[in-house]
Amino acid sequence: MKTRAGHDPRLPIEHHIQDTPQGRELVLSLYTKGCQYRKCSFCSLPTLSALDEDVSAADIKAQIDHAVASCPPAELAVIRRVTVFNSGSTVDQRTLPTEALWHLFDKLAAFPALGEVSLDSRAEFVEDWELDGIKTRLGGRRLTMAVGYETKDERIRNGVLNKGLSEETFQKTAELLAAKGVRLKAYVLVKPDAALTEAQAVDEAAATLEHLLATGRKLGLEVEAHLNPTYVARGSRLEEEFKAKEYRPPRLWSVVDILARMEGKGLPIHIGLRTEGLAVKGGTFRNCGRCDERVSAALRAFTGSQDYGLLKGLDCPCRSRPA
Ligand code: SF4
Ligand SMILES: [Zn+2]
Repeated sequence: MKTRAGHDPRLPIEHHIQDTPQGRELVLSLYTKGCQYRKCSFCSLPTLSALDEDVSAADIKAQIDHAVASCPPAELAVIRRVTVFNSGSTVDQRTLPTEALWHLFDKLAAFPALGEVSLDSRAEFVEDWELDGIKTRLGGRRLTMAVGYETKDERIRNGVLNKGLSEETFQKTAELLAAKGVRLKAYVLVKPDAALTEAQAVDEAAATLEHLLATGRKLGLEVEAHLNPTYVARGSRLEEEFKAKEYRPPRLWSVVDILARMEGKGLPIHIGLRTEGLAVKGGTFRNCGRCDERVSAALRAFTGSQDYGLLKGLDCPCRSRPA
């Protein structure tokens, strides 16, 4: 994998402010040493990182300072949630030194309306002592750990996606989060396997969301799902299947159909339509071309409001055509 040439290590990969059901959210993507795992077949996020190069705690602190300083005071005053990524695992000390993570929480003390912080990580890096340290620094604010679960189907998760995550490890992490009063955000992929038809992909994702809901109920754990329609990332193993015409990304209608199955069940669902500029040409989720923007806009509005009514009136002649 090739890393981004010439990225200034004192600048984050990206940061922006967006609407969520919880209010305004600052999303911060830190530039650090790359994901240690780097084997997931659908992912080329590590290409945004420094890969094997260390990025010092001092440089990461400068990135955090830059993001906070570029947030206009009026915006900073109303930010409810801060989400932090590093194209890997924010609680893996080999990529993001704990000293820099603590600096982040020192800075967040200046956010008067902040109610929640969400951190991305592979499940196996989530540790008892670090959760305690973060929670102490957050005071009474809520902590969410965002973990790539992708699917409840272990054959797809580990055989096809090469995620390297057993159900046992996932459940242990979920138990730890429940015991610590930390929320779980689970990433779920739509159509993660080339062998699935669109209809099967809808069934598969809905079953995964139901499983997450049941896991949360069983453990007394608050769960949110982040549903990502799969896109074909440049340099990923999925790109080879796409080029061989063995894989087509899911239709946006399939995402609408999955949501229709989850209405009224009480699982907050965020739809991830960003590709971080990593998708190959023609390799993103799509509809016929004429309704894509309308359906995407409705899905974005749904994410911000969790209002299923926004998805009800949507239609296009392509919807009933076979995918
Ligand atoms: S999905 Fe996460 S764990 Fe897998 S390679 Fe990408 S960054 Fe690493
Ligand atoms: Zn259409």
